[in-house]
Amino acid sequence: VVQYDGVVKRFGSLTVLNGVSARVNKGEVVCLIGPSGSGKSTLLRCTNALEIADGGRVVFEGQPLPKTEAELRHVRRRMGMVFQNFELFPHMTALENVAVGPITILGADPAEARAKAQALLEKVGLGAKGGNHPSALSGGQQQRVAIARALAMDPDVMLFDEPTSALDPETIGEVLNVMKRLAEEGMTMVVVTHEMSFARRVANWILVFDEGRVIEEGPPAQIFDAPTHARTQSFLSHLG
Ligand code: ATP
Ligand code: MG
Repeated sequence: VVQYDGVVKRFGSLTVLNGVSARVNKGEVVCLIGPSGSGKSTLLRCTNALEIADGGRVVFEGQPLPKTEAELRHVRRRMGMVFQNFELFPHMTALENVAVGPITILGADPAEARAKAQALLEKVGLGAKGGNHPSALSGGQQQRVAIARALAMDPDVMLFDEPTSALDPETIGEVLNVMKRLAEEGMTMVVVTHEMSFARRVANWILVFDEGRVIEEGPPAQIFDAPTHARTQSFLSHLG
C-alpha cells in the first residue's frame, strides 16, 4: 500500500530523515518506534504529504505521491490520520464530527452519512455519545471519535501518531482495543507508538528509528526478544 524509497527530509540544515526505505503491505500493521526526535512523525507526515520529502519518494498504491495540491487532496482522502491531540471540531457534536467529511468532501447524502457515522460510533463503543460535543467527552472518547471520523472516509490506510500519548492511563486501553480490532479486521495501519505491548501484540512489522534512519526492522518477536542493534537494545531497556 505504501512504499518508502530512500526518503530524505531536511528542515534547514537539520536532516531529519536520512534515506528511509520500508514498505507497508495491505492488511499489515507497521509500528514505528524509537527515541524522541528520531523522525517517526516526520515519516508519517511525509506519507500523506503533510510534509514533502526532499529526496527519495513515497509510493502510495503503486503511484509516487503527486506534486500538485489538487492531486494530493485526492490522495490524502484515502489516508486516515489520527493525531496525538484528537483535533476534533469543537463546535460540532461527535456525530457531526464523523459525518462532516463524507458530506462536505465526498458529497455524500447527509442522511446516509449520519447513519454511517452512527454505525461507526457504535463500532468504537460510543453509540450513545453522538450528541456530545468534544468538551463533554473524555480524552479516550474523543480519540475514538477521531478514529471513527477517519474511518468515515473509507481510507485505504490509517496513520496514527502516538494516539494514546496524551491520554490518562485509564483511557489508553479503550483506544488501543479499538485499534486492535481494526487491525484484526484487516485495516492497513502505520502506527507511531510508545506502547510496546501494543506493538508486540498487534504489529506485523516494526521499524526502529534512530537519528533519521531505520536502524533495525523485523517482526515484533525479533525486535523485542532478540534485537541485534545496540541502540535498539538501549532504547528498549530505557523503557523499563
Ligand atoms: P517524538 O517521539 O518526540 O514525537 P519523532 O521521532 O516523531 O519524535 P519528529 O517529530 O519526526 O520526531 O522530529 C524529528 C526532528 O525534526 C526533530 O529534531 C524535530 O525537532 C525536527 N522537526 C520536526 N518538524 C520540524 C519542523 N516543522 N521544522 C523544523 N524542525 C522540525
Ligand atoms: Mg513524533
